[in-house]
Amino acid sequence: PAVALAVLATACGSSEKTADTEATSGNTAGALVGVTMPTKSSERWIHDGDNVKAGLEKLGYKVDLQYAENDIPTQVNQIENQITKGAKLLIIASIDGTAITTQLQEAADKKIPVIAYDRLIRNSPNVDYYATFDNFKVGVQQATSLLVGLKLKNEDGTDGSAKGPFNIELFGGSPDDNNATFFFNGAMSVLQPLIDSKTLVVKSGQTDFKTVAILRWDPATAQKRMEDLLTKTYSSGGAKVDGVLSPYDGLSIGILSALKSNGYGTADQPYPIVTGQDAELASVKSIIAGEQYSTIYKDTRQLADVTVKMADSVLKGGKPEVNNTKDYDNGNKVVPSYLLEPVIVNKTNYQKEVVDTGYYTQAQLGG
Ligand code: BGC
Repeated sequence: PAVALAVLATACGSSEKTADTEATSGNTAGALVGVTMPTKSSERWIHDGDNVKAGLEKLGYKVDLQYAENDIPTQVNQIENQITKGAKLLIIASIDGTAITTQLQEAADKKIPVIAYDRLIRNSPNVDYYATFDNFKVGVQQATSLLVGLKLKNEDGTDGSAKGPFNIELFGGSPDDNNATFFFNGAMSVLQPLIDSKTLVVKSGQTDFKTVAILRWDPATAQKRMEDLLTKTYSSGGAKVDGVLSPYDGLSIGILSALKSNGYGTADQPYPIVTGQDAELASVKSIIAGEQYSTIYKDTRQLADVTVKMADSVLKGGKPEVNNTKDYDNGNKVVPSYLLEPVIVNKTNYQKEVVDTGYYTQAQLGG
């Protein structure tokens, strides 16, 4: 990551002036930047907010950082307030990517540029840039690690020792979060052929994104759905769940609790292979303890860093570096994007990925 960041720093330094951002190229030194994050109920957004704020402040900007506890009207108000307070740029990790069109129009009328952070803002022409991880790849990695955990594949992609069939269940993220479909589609690009060949059996029959999606990424909703699946689909005939595709660590925790209260997690009946995302502290600990199988590590320090550089460049009337201008169509325009690389983390590589990189200390993970 250190090398990657150095490269980014060099690349982003070479910004040029363009006509379309001329409006913002006045004196923006020390300008106010509005940053809105979805919720503090998940650790990652706390890190994201802190890192973006610190990065901008280091460059001399003032920052108004707000969290909305996953409540859409609250986020709408926060953005409106930031516009009223005179913010010169907005960085938004939206709750519902379709719900802030009016506010973005207000911003555009005042020539305030907007950067979508991590989640694409949909149905608006007034989104200038997007900084995120490769979301389709996150889904591919989640499904790949599920196959590795089941020993259908080896880590190098060759066939593993197991043949199946295995029973799996699928979970999706919040349907109003554009990322959730990218994660699910990425995962299904890997899983569908194996479902078709009956190597993987989704015993509940629930394979449609809308059916498996968990509104607002709520862990309790995921726990409830897992409990229902166990009761309805797995309580007779001795069938067991072998794997669960979970798109986020918070959901994985709920899913594992449901499994535990139904007799899983013992020597006789180990937990199924459960995936995740975000490398949240509790989940990395769970991976070390042999409960959750894997997570997808997205270094939020890198995302903050890229976003801060983007913001600085836009505020100075420049053109920030992007590396994708085709995949993120928001229904209105293709938003120029910078995509970062996600990494699969499991018990064998957590040390290298999240400790050696300084994301967590060994002490935080329990010594
Ligand atoms: C983010 C994920 C996160 C999820 C729930 C998504 O938009 O990309 O990293 O797990 O939201 O917070």
